[in-house]
Amino acid sequence: MTRPIILPLFFLLITLITVDSQAQTKDLADRLFKVHETYREAVLTQRRFKQKDILPLISRRQGNALYQIEKVGDSFEGRGIQMIKVGNGKKKVLLWTQMHGDEPTATMASFDIFNFLEGKNDGFDELRRKLLDNTTLYFVPMLNPDGAERYQRRTAQGIDMNRDAAARQTPEAQILKGLVDRLKPDYGFNLHDQSPRYSAGRSAKVATISFLATSYDYELSVNDVRQRSMQLIVGMNKVLQKYIPGQVARYADDHEPRGFGDNVQKWGTTLVLIESGGYVGDPEKQYIRQLNFMAILSALDKIADNSLTKENREEYYDIPENGRWVYDLVVRNATVRQAGKSFTTDLGINRNEVSYANATKFFYYSKIEDFGDLHPQFGSQEVDATGLTIEKGKVYPTAFRNVSEISKLNALNLLKEGYTYVRLAADSNTRALGLYFTTTPLHILRSGQTAPSGTPGLGNTATFILKKAGKVKYAVINGFVHDLDDFNTEKGQGIVE
Ligand SMILES: [Zn+2]
Repeated sequence: MTRPIILPLFFLLITLITVDSQAQTKDLADRLFKVHETYREAVLTQRRFKQKDILPLISRRQGNALYQIEKVGDSFEGRGIQMIKVGNGKKKVLLWTQMHGDEPTATMASFDIFNFLEGKNDGFDELRRKLLDNTTLYFVPMLNPDGAERYQRRTAQGIDMNRDAAARQTPEAQILKGLVDRLKPDYGFNLHDQSPRYSAGRSAKVATISFLATSYDYELSVNDVRQRSMQLIVGMNKVLQKYIPGQVARYADDHEPRGFGDNVQKWGTTLVLIESGGYVGDPEKQYIRQLNFMAILSALDKIADNSLTKENREEYYDIPENGRWVYDLVVRNATVRQAGKSFTTDLGINRNEVSYANATKFFYYSKIEDFGDLHPQFGSQEVDATGLTIEKGKVYPTAFRNVSEISKLNALNLLKEGYTYVRLAADSNTRALGLYFTTTPLHILRSGQTAPSGTPGLGNTATFILKKAGKVKYAVINGFVHDLDDFNTEKGQGIVE
């Protein structure tokens, strides 16, 4: 008579334990999210840092009993690549960042994690002990320091090292393969940044974090190794949804035989790819860095006690794929007058980053990247130009000696009169300058440069005006929208082209 009662009780107990563990995971994630500010590495404040900025952060940990630091090789240009080992547990986890030189978000988060591991008496001592006793973490921050030096994806050889896992013509790829062979890690974290312009599925929201449980074959098979990577991702997705609802996506899992993620999975390490994408209002990705900190530590917690196996791998497929392109700006339904005819079009505009000052800073240079019907696509910013006519702005007749003279002009008055372009004189001292930016909301033409002819279209710099009943309503200068009825000179960047 007891069995019929015991069995339901047993299942109830299991359910309660599962629910309880999920609640604990979310509670831990919330606490990690909050404590991040305490452990944020203050030296790293923006994305364009270089190896020389992180080397002191590594060397100051030399002699700290928590760590073992090892040089694991040299980049093509001879920059020593360091590995930081922490923990003494059975489960080996290899985490590498920035194999693409311009993808630094997880490098910042790694140093935040080191600071966190060094903390105490903050309510996390139990988690630290759990992580350090059950896992051994091998961090390789900034695997491609030569690329980071130039803030570029590829290595100094011009090779994408994430397509070099098979041929291994770069020393950086040889280093990573060597580590995988030597350490035989149970888990691998391949930490990247993706374009900030992917949507999560078919939504208008940009994908802030995208995941991939890489495929080890063309059939997209799922063995135990890959299943665990799906389970880790399911767990991380759950804790991220509270902070970025609907902004987690996953990469299409096509097998890439040259990629490290795919090959490491094939070689038997459970591999998770994390891509830091975009978040509107966070160009330096400091919020996304905080999410990395929270998500990675949550995943390590689940590796430490093996609770990742409680996650249902099928939920991996419920995460939407990286979807369409979200433009930085979409102008909808603008009227174009051309050759005596008129039609309407949308414009998709992106504000692309141009590095300067030895790739330590950047400015925006904006192009019209699509033209036509963009109704299935979205803009992070949208302007409804229904009933407005798009025109090229006029060139101001006076030429100026330098940019600072131009900055003294009343830009609003010029824009109201339809002038978007101002010329520099032939003898101006800025002649030697290449493409550059200005805080003045005008498009400055260097000597010898001319404004494009005709209506602005595909491939042009995004400078134009939108008129209503013959009056300028909006001026778009270098991809930044200026509403002339609500003008604020602080926003946006002009361009010197
Ligand atoms: Zn990448």
